[in-house]
Amino acid sequence: MAVDLLDFDLEGLAAFCEGLGEKRFRAVQLFRWIHQKGASDFDAMSDLAKSLRTRLAGDAAIGALPVISEQASADGTVKWLFDVGGGNAVEAVFIPEDDRGTLCVSSQAGCAVGCRFCSTGHQGFSRNLRTGEIVAQLWHAEHRLRARRATAGADAGPGGAPLRMVDNVVMMGMGEPLQNYGALVPALRTMLDDHGYGLSRRRVTVSTSGVVPMIERLREDCPVALAVSLHAPDDALRDMLVPLNRKYPIAELMAACRAYLPVAPRDFVMFEYCMLDGVNDADAQARALVDLVRRERVPCKFNLIPFNPFPGSGLERSPPERVRAFQRILLDAGFVATVRRTRGDDIDAACGQLAGEVRDRTGAQARLARRRTIPLHPQNVARSLR
Ligand code: SAH
Ligand code: SF4
Repeated sequence: MAVDLLDFDLEGLAAFCEGLGEKRFRAVQLFRWIHQKGASDFDAMSDLAKSLRTRLAGDAAIGALPVISEQASADGTVKWLFDVGGGNAVEAVFIPEDDRGTLCVSSQAGCAVGCRFCSTGHQGFSRNLRTGEIVAQLWHAEHRLRARRATAGADAGPGGAPLRMVDNVVMMGMGEPLQNYGALVPALRTMLDDHGYGLSRRRVTVSTSGVVPMIERLREDCPVALAVSLHAPDDALRDMLVPLNRKYPIAELMAACRAYLPVAPRDFVMFEYCMLDGVNDADAQARALVDLVRRERVPCKFNLIPFNPFPGSGLERSPPERVRAFQRILLDAGFVATVRRTRGDDIDAACGQLAGEVRDRTGAQARLARRRTIPLHPQNVARSLR
């Protein structure tokens, strides 16, 4: 079977080229053709010797993922559904903003963590994506969007260089990136490499539900911006919302965050908090959150994500005034706290709505279906039942 060159970071590609008797600078050329120019055909690589091109065409491939669908939202958001074989499909979402473009990338077909409020989690887990399948999402989005821009007649950057479309990557699509660590790290390196996508470490974010030992390894191997999906101020509630908390409770998670920051490209951790009506959105819980991060001394910001409903979740989105009241408590305590604007609503591209298609190999669907109910915060029961 042909080797997928998207599976390699530059070091990996250099080793592969060495195996073909080629010098490192050939790997650099090849890497630039693939990632910077979006080449999918070895014949187009005009500065590589014909003999090498023929050899590559025989032994290797640039493993673009088949696109099942591309949907564009009225607000400019674009969502792709990619076929990763075996009845599985994963999604990536491009979110344009005034001054930058963000791509939300998937790391697994499904997810084994099984968070209560997450559509991917409800689908169960099929398999880890390979490095090449993670990178292929960025490769496709970047070059597809550039082509669309060129068709629209927009200009190139200084010296005719194509302007980059994706400036930010967030590993916030389907899957838990730190449960696919071996494939994740070379993918991150390709994103960061100046011969690859040249993204700044501050603009590549790994979002995790809290795989503590892998946060520690990421610190050593490839520190990028860190987002942690917290969702609750105490272990009792977090155990229910994010089952991984039973293995790595909040105190351990906070310790891992503290240890990560000295080498991180940003001097804070972004805590994500999905706002669930009557479950985790009370004033008392906001105050408990403030106490928690002060006690644990973790420099942080908060990103409040109004829950995006999906069929069968059994949960409701917190009302806007509740989100604002919760945010106010964090702001008054001196924290930066933003509310994530929902984008791509009309194409189901918002956080936690990425569903793709997953062959559940773990029985998670059935397990979650048995756990449909979640106890409400006592002071909120009355409001939620209204
Ligand atoms: N597995 C990683 C990254 C993917 S999820 C993680 O959990 O961090 C990306 C973000 O979307 C996480 O913060 C997650 O908690 C949030 N999310 C999941 N389902 C959601 C939903 N239905 N509504 C709003 N946010 C959701
Ligand atoms: Fe997995 Fe993240 Fe969804 Fe939890 S929120 S089930 S960790 S993808």
